[in-house]
Amino acid sequence: MSRLENVERIEQLSGLIAGASEILVFTGAGISTASGIPDYRGPQGVWKTRQPVYYQDFMRSEEHQIEYWQQKMEDSESWGAAPPNAVHHVIVDLENAGKIAMVVTQNVDGLHAQAGTSKDRLVEIHGTNREIECQTCRDRSAPEPHFATFRDTGVVPHCHCGGILKAATISFGQALRADEMARAYKAADGCDLVLALGSTLSVNPAASIPLHATERGTPYVIVNQGATDHDRLVVVTMRIEGDVESIVPVAVEMALAGSPGEQPH
Ligand SMILES: [Zn+2]
Repeated sequence: MSRLENVERIEQLSGLIAGASEILVFTGAGISTASGIPDYRGPQGVWKTRQPVYYQDFMRSEEHQIEYWQQKMEDSESWGAAPPNAVHHVIVDLENAGKIAMVVTQNVDGLHAQAGTSKDRLVEIHGTNREIECQTCRDRSAPEPHFATFRDTGVVPHCHCGGILKAATISFGQALRADEMARAYKAADGCDLVLALGSTLSVNPAASIPLHATERGTPYVIVNQGATDHDRLVVVTMRIEGDVESIVPVAVEMALAGSPGEQPH
């Protein structure tokens, strides 16, 4: 795809964003690579060199719990402090302009929340690494003190209720949260534009959420570097190939230029 064609597509995307008021933004690993966070499933992905700890193993064996906490601690030391990038920030700009129905992310890096996307406008389908959750009472807490304890003692942290603590992500072998999926589908029912950003759209049922919106004829734009599983579907209004960070912030800024945005009240 030529550069000129992409410029035209960015202008078209900008026009779609300007005309929309209930946007469903669906994001994947490709929007966080600019923050320095590795794509777990990509060619250099973490799971090419390391075995994930399955949920059932984690729950039944202390050995697996130690392995899990070791992996999480290594991850947090290498890229746990990665900041949100321009893509996360312009999605917040869209929300401030009253244009976001929901941000639905496959990412567990917590960067949408950190950038300022509101909790009631955010579905983290696969959970978040920025919180620790008790597997018994569901109490949530910040990860840093637990990492410090684990680093100092080598003992897997436990909740005040005695339950086992784990990152608030959906691990391999762990069921998605039905209430969170329902929030995502409900937003897909009411949106007037779907943007899929930085996702190969190959992991289901997550990738079925944008498709659900297109059943009503909602415009569907995909921006990704590399092929996606939805590229050949007739419901795709526009496909823009390339780095999300070089495309989406430009389109959003063009769309929001001249529109005053919602006043806080
Ligand atoms: Zn607990």
